[in-house]
Amino acid sequence: MGILSSVKGFFGRAGRFISAGLSQLFGLGFELTHRLPGLFGFFDYIFGWIGIRPKQKLYLRVVVLVEGSSPIVADLDAVYSIINEAKSIFLSQANVEIVPAVGSILSISPYPAPSAVLEVECGTDFWEDDFGEAGEFFRLHTVDMPLRSETGYGSPITAFIVKRIRGDGGLRRGCSMTFFEDYLLVSLPISPSRVLAHELAHTCGLSPIDSLHSSANNNLMNIDDLDGDKLTNYQAARLRNSPHVTYY
Ligand SMILES: [Zn+2]
Repeated sequence: MGILSSVKGFFGRAGRFISAGLSQLFGLGFELTHRLPGLFGFFDYIFGWIGIRPKQKLYLRVVVLVEGSSPIVADLDAVYSIINEAKSIFLSQANVEIVPAVGSILSISPYPAPSAVLEVECGTDFWEDDFGEAGEFFRLHTVDMPLRSETGYGSPITAFIVKRIRGDGGLRRGCSMTFFEDYLLVSLPISPSRVLAHELAHTCGLSPIDSLHSSANNNLMNIDDLDGDKLTNYQAARLRNSPHVTYY
């Protein structure tokens, strides 16, 4: 490796590090500043108890990655099925309508994905990956909506369908950086049907501030029984108070 490529490599890594750090910092900043006016979901919690829960919106784009020249998912119906399940759960449990972020809700990535992006780690390794090649790719291909993405208010979420997610000594079905990033991952094979809804809920703040997962088997955030689809009033209020969820 020549001196020039070493220098380029150093600035490439430094650039990724700075962009990931800023992105995570903005994620945290948006989380705090946007949750404060709604008193961190307190109003939604109180109104939810008396059945008042006006409809809100969440903008979503689902991106299927491409390996070589082929999308990694042959049957897009499987992807539509997890999108429809997420739509149904968010609407019935929190009166949040999931709508397409610019154009179609599902798209095939126009660029082939590097291997660091097709197979990723979850947990603290995912956080580390966010500073590397994978994070750079995901941030670059996360959908942008004018004003929303810059201010964080109603910023869209991008869900990437990847080949494999490793974590906790096994394979994971999905992974979210919670409020730190506007993107999340779902892996092949695409199951269970609620996987996208579960990861979206993490990104909308059902995360470390609350206990990460629920012990109730019928709950969306339970991970013993993978078909729970219910949210408590408290969870619905926290989800509705997310900066990603807005009235317009
Ligand atoms: Zn989870």
